[in-house]
Amino acid sequence: MSDDKSSETPQTGLENLMREERRFEPPAELAQNANVTAEVYDEASADRLAFWAKQAERLHWTEPHQEVLDWSNPPFAKWFVGGKLNAAYNCVDRHVEAGNGDRVALHWVGEPADDTRSLTYAELQDEVCRASNALTELGVAAGDRVAIYMPMIPETVVAMLACARLGAPHTVVFGGFSADALASRVVDCGAKVIITADGGYRRGAASALKPAVDEACEKAGDIVEKVLVVRRTEQDVEWTEGRDVWWHEAVGNQSTSHDAQGFDAEHPLYVMYTSGTTGKPKGILHTTGGYLVGTSYTHWSVFDLKPETDVYWCTADVGWVTGHSYMVYGPLSNGATQVMYEGTPDTPHKGRWWEIIQQYGVTIFYTAPTAIRTFMKQGEEIPNEFDMSSLRLLGSVGESINPEAYVWYHRVIGGDRCPIVDTWWQTETGQIMVSPLPGVTAGKPGSAMKALPGISAAVVNDEAQAVGNGSGGYLVLTEPWPAMLRTIWGDDERFKDTYWSRFPGKYFAGDGAKLDDDGDIWLLGRVDDVMNVSGHRLSTTEIESALVSHPKVAEAAVVGATDDTTGQAVCAFVILRESALKDGEEAPDSLIEELRKHVQKEIGAIAKPRQIMVVQELPKTRSGKIMRRLLRDVAEHREVGDVTTLADSSVMSLIEKGMSSSSED
Ligand code: ATP
Ligand code: MG
Repeated sequence: MSDDKSSETPQTGLENLMREERRFEPPAELAQNANVTAEVYDEASADRLAFWAKQAERLHWTEPHQEVLDWSNPPFAKWFVGGKLNAAYNCVDRHVEAGNGDRVALHWVGEPADDTRSLTYAELQDEVCRASNALTELGVAAGDRVAIYMPMIPETVVAMLACARLGAPHTVVFGGFSADALASRVVDCGAKVIITADGGYRRGAASALKPAVDEACEKAGDIVEKVLVVRRTEQDVEWTEGRDVWWHEAVGNQSTSHDAQGFDAEHPLYVMYTSGTTGKPKGILHTTGGYLVGTSYTHWSVFDLKPETDVYWCTADVGWVTGHSYMVYGPLSNGATQVMYEGTPDTPHKGRWWEIIQQYGVTIFYTAPTAIRTFMKQGEEIPNEFDMSSLRLLGSVGESINPEAYVWYHRVIGGDRCPIVDTWWQTETGQIMVSPLPGVTAGKPGSAMKALPGISAAVVNDEAQAVGNGSGGYLVLTEPWPAMLRTIWGDDERFKDTYWSRFPGKYFAGDGAKLDDDGDIWLLGRVDDVMNVSGHRLSTTEIESALVSHPKVAEAAVVGATDDTTGQAVCAFVILRESALKDGEEAPDSLIEELRKHVQKEIGAIAKPRQIMVVQELPKTRSGKIMRRLLRDVAEHREVGDVTTLADSSVMSLIEKGMSSSSED
């Protein structure tokens, strides 16, 4: 361990958690029939650009490219230079033309019971064409930005594809965000149209969306010319004549034919704002050709998708990048059949997700560690009531999956038979970057394993040198990749500063990582969150995983708080499993002490938390990531910072109250 306090590189290993050598080899049947084989790594490293050019052939182009990559002006990349394609045509029409129009594209499940709808590719094509014609009539042309502020309903996917078809970049804003958040994004990217709904169903009730749109339009001044409103909940809405238009009136009567024009590979496809875990969200720009190649190939290879037989379900909201790359563009470009669910996992009962898996025979399931830990907390009796034998592959995204949660997911949800792909990527990367290939790479609980074929990742030290196996550092991407962000919308300087200045010539993702003795990658958490205790750098992921490995703990968040003697001290916030305490019982001091000792045993005395607080909830972004910066504010008795992307702001006041009443030792 280093004593260099100036550096933030996390250096402690995950030795204890890795030591157990839990390793899941690919199941024989999957390995034999997998979409890709081990040779693909060699093929890609022999000629990376030829490899991506080959993947581009999986799509339909109206003009072929002349050059695979133009990297003459880094960090501004151009992929498939001169190529032209239409993203919506690739996601919809070409499947119909190939004779698969009758295949279900979306099995949509509303939150209210029995509120379901299935759309075939042919029906999706009709809807997308109608919506494209309607948007054209409303004045939307190539290059215009359109904001989409919708619940999880089929029209949301249709709206995105219609924008893509017209070459009008969309910016999808999560339906749970406030009017302010919507307004700031509308202003930032200059959206002239907003597509919304009267509301949607969440947690057993209809919630409204239109009032926030009205407020956002007011705040945004005269930017927004038209608001297209889907009727979903039948609630009353305020109406602004001349601006507001009903979807069923504008779209319903349109023709179902629409000629999809090819756009330049570098034509903007969408702007997506990051989750805001570390600060103000950044408007990430993705373009058409490289993005579609990257998402389509990774969806097909990482999820081993067999479009004829699989039923795929990604639980992400469409308001996040995962909902873009692995619910819309990746799966649809591959002709997948998928499930889309409107509501929350616990409505009307805590087994709702498992019931949907049973009902639709879901084979591939992709969710986030935050959800898995919530189910762990509730206990395995709930999923055990359902038949999930259709599942064959599981995925995880959003945060490191603690080894304990991985093993639980593997056993309880995957019935000990489904491999897990722990996929590391970001809004900025557009596509999955580090992940096992399920028929090829073994899975190790807690490790995202290897850079995918065609992706060049490294773990480097402060001097930008690659670290050896067994060492930690910063995760960087050393070569451009097709779905990479092209810039931060309207702010090239911020793009260069944020991602390309820390290690010149390399993309710095902001995450710490470590290579194990086999050279496999373990994500250690964000470097902003790394703690420095008496000169020892400790990773949040490591200590949190140690806490979660205790049988009474379901979830943990760890931060460093200023400490007079050690510089920083470890403060932990834990959620206990429901079985750990009797109803209404307070966590006894003896349990807190047991947890402190558990961390000491797992990692070492240096990591033993100064303080552990038992909480009911943790502050999370709307995308389910723990916001440690807010907990750091609490631990250091500061006023809590920006909470606009917090899922539930009341969580913070409860934690602050608890903190002031708990004693520190
Ligand atoms: P912001 O950049 O605004 O602070 P954010 O980083 O949370 O928000 P996203 O792009 O949604 O926004 O999240 C990407 C980040 O999520 C990664 O940088 C990483 O920290 C974390 N992450 C995603 N998947 C994994 C994974 N499989 N293992 C570990 N960390 C992951
Ligand atoms: Mg980020």
